[in-house]
Amino acid sequence: MADLQAIVDEIHEKLTPRLGEGKVADYIPQLAHVDPKKFGMAIVTVDGEMVKVGDADLPFSIQSISKVFTLTLALGKHGETTWNRVGREPSGSAFNSIVQLEHEEGKPRNPFINAGAIAVSDLVLAGHTPREAIGEIVRFVRYLADDDAIAIDPAVAKSEQATGYRNFALANFMRSFGKLDHPVEHVLGVYFHHCALAMTCMQLARSGLFLAASGSNPLTGHTVVSKQRARRINALMLTCGHYDGSGDFAYRVGLPGKSGVGGGILAVAPGRASVAVWSPGLNHNGNSLLGSLALEMLTARTGWSVFGL
Ligand code: GLU
Repeated sequence: MADLQAIVDEIHEKLTPRLGEGKVADYIPQLAHVDPKKFGMAIVTVDGEMVKVGDADLPFSIQSISKVFTLTLALGKHGETTWNRVGREPSGSAFNSIVQLEHEEGKPRNPFINAGAIAVSDLVLAGHTPREAIGEIVRFVRYLADDDAIAIDPAVAKSEQATGYRNFALANFMRSFGKLDHPVEHVLGVYFHHCALAMTCMQLARSGLFLAASGSNPLTGHTVVSKQRARRINALMLTCGHYDGSGDFAYRVGLPGKSGVGGGILAVAPGRASVAVWSPGLNHNGNSLLGSLALEMLTARTGWSVFGL
């Protein structure tokens, strides 16, 4: 069996001279305050082995990685009817693009682009006030990670609320097509808050473990979703999890993964492990530059790519 600690230590050592590369997201002002040289990585295997390196215990803004958790919740609430509101195809466009929405009459391409995640927030809101829906999301993530310390960073949520012009445009556009059931302010309140969840790499790796283990968390014994649903969420992460860089991520890393503009990536090696990496500098697609590289090194060394050794 691979010595995972030795592997992550080597990855960390190799990447250390490059820390700070890439561009930290600053369109959400609060995110620009992060130290660009931070780097953390954590792996939790389905057998319960946990390894970490660098800043793996420092919370960061998980941003769009949270879309995996809200999709899981929406599917739990609405089942297959979720797909009446959001598609399952890669968009080939930037994470916050509005172009396709007009052609597709307000039905976003997939749940991981911003428009799609806003539609998912609308579904999670069903039957709730925004405050209750946000509470439900936080409780769900705490349950997944088995850690009640996980919380939303209110400064990030506020910062995004104050500057999220593009997301307001997307939501208003969808509402104009009758594709949102709730007021735009409520839907975006939920969306901005779940994007502002702060988590460490270790918490994130633990919270994604159910996707690596056929829907059940082997650490807690909790069954989160069925095998079939876990497989399908992984499929969406593989095809849509890195926006317009999803093809490149599949080519280089070969794992279902979801990135966030905070510089985090959650990657799933089905049957093996859940991996979280954090490095704030982004590439031109808005995905963590060194985080992607770290995962590429990991799969090269472990043979964990879903496409073969
Ligand atoms: N909260 C961010 C936004 O809506 C999420 C984007 C991302 O993480 O890719 O712009």
